[in-house]
Amino acid sequence: MYCIYCNKLNSDEAKFCMNCGVALMSQGHPAGKPAGFWIRFFAELIDIVVVLVIANMCATATVPLLGLSIGISNIPHQAVELTAMLVAAFVISFYEIWMHVRFGRTLGKMAAGIKVVTVKNEPVTYKLSFLRWLGKMLNLFTLGFGFFMIVLNKDKRGVHDYVANTKVVYLATKK
Ligand SMILES: [Zn+2]
Repeated sequence: MYCIYCNKLNSDEAKFCMNCGVALMSQGHPAGKPAGFWIRFFAELIDIVVVLVIANMCATATVPLLGLSIGISNIPHQAVELTAMLVAAFVISFYEIWMHVRFGRTLGKMAAGIKVVTVKNEPVTYKLSFLRWLGKMLNLFTLGFGFFMIVLNKDKRGVHDYVANTKVVYLATKK
């Protein structure tokens, strides 16, 4: 089985993770327990602040570079705004997709002690992370209904989790 804490693949008989030492049998409870709406909402708020700061920094850094590369210092106002928006959209999407593959969670989820895994408790791949991101976009365009699905089923999966075959669970605490 995969260690929910560090993603290391251990043998099915193993009681402790050979990489980080977490008790694997404890992953039934409380680690591995589905994370509900409010803890995920809390994680999302932290992520929104984080990505807005990073996206803003990237956009601010990119606009002068754009000016240099096309050889003018007086870039039209609309071009600046469009570039900033595209950079911000890219940073926000990249953060969401990459963090879930690299760490299984975003900074907000780290703070909340929760993590995204597949329904079989395996780490999320780029394909699944991308699908999950698409699902979240879908949720936004359906007035957030997909997020409220979380309160409607016992595994607390939103529409984006169904799309990517994932769930959000509590992490094991390190001893
Ligand atoms: Zn581990």
